[in-house]
Amino acid sequence: KREADELNSLEQAVLEFDPSSAPVDLFSSLPITRQTAKALEKSHFKTLTSIQQRAIPLALKGYDILGAAKTGSGKTLAFLVPVLEILYRRKWTPLDGVGALIISPTRELATQIFDVLRKIGREHTFSAGLVIGGKGLKEEKEALHRMNIVVCTPGRMLQHMDQTYDVSFDNLQLLVLDEADRILDMGFRKTLDAIVANLPKSRQTLLFSATQTKNVADLARLSLKDPEYVAVHEAA
Ligand code: ADP
Ligand code: MG
Repeated sequence: KREADELNSLEQAVLEFDPSSAPVDLFSSLPITRQTAKALEKSHFKTLTSIQQRAIPLALKGYDILGAAKTGSGKTLAFLVPVLEILYRRKWTPLDGVGALIISPTRELATQIFDVLRKIGREHTFSAGLVIGGKGLKEEKEALHRMNIVVCTPGRMLQHMDQTYDVSFDNLQLLVLDEADRILDMGFRKTLDAIVANLPKSRQTLLFSATQTKNVADLARLSLKDPEYVAVHEAA
């Protein structure tokens, strides 16, 4: 009962929240769950970085995002906070399967994202996992069945989609492409296209990149729907 009331007032707060009004400085001023707010506070995240100020409000409202900001600007929380919030508001449970897929260029970067997710997701009850190889395909596949939030590398994910026929992405709510410029530089364009072809079209997509290149723009055209462009430049 308490949870239902909280969810209702959260939905209301998100509806009334206007991303075009004055930028939000504090995580505590965002319309987010007390679970996420508490974990952010415990991890000593208080104020939003510029890219977080621009991207999080729009993503919380359900928009697709094409975000560009240099390395070190805080892009990880810019997508992880919305991922947790959207799944929570859709009442995602461990039984609902994969709700969010986060694609990262390398094992190292995927592992870093996963570590941040574990920290800021610790008050939630979602199951999350890494799909980056390094374990047997069968073992990883069995774990994949139980994951709500998957952090993966492109090659390994496609291997599962090709060989693990019984993992369903039909319910997928969110796709995150992190470091999209680097994914493309590494030659994963066809792999990405094949992965995206396996995903439902009615999803929210958040694409982040350190640089804005023509290749990233091409990818955005094919994977995003009327995206909000969010670019943060260094002060001149
Ligand atoms: P990017 O992906 O843009 O390169 P990261 O998400 O890896 O950036 O963040 C870079 C660093 O900034 C990390 O050490 C992270 O903990 C820190 N950071 C991110 N957001 C905040 C914030 N709102 N307040 C303080 N530190 C932050
Ligand atoms: Mg990053």
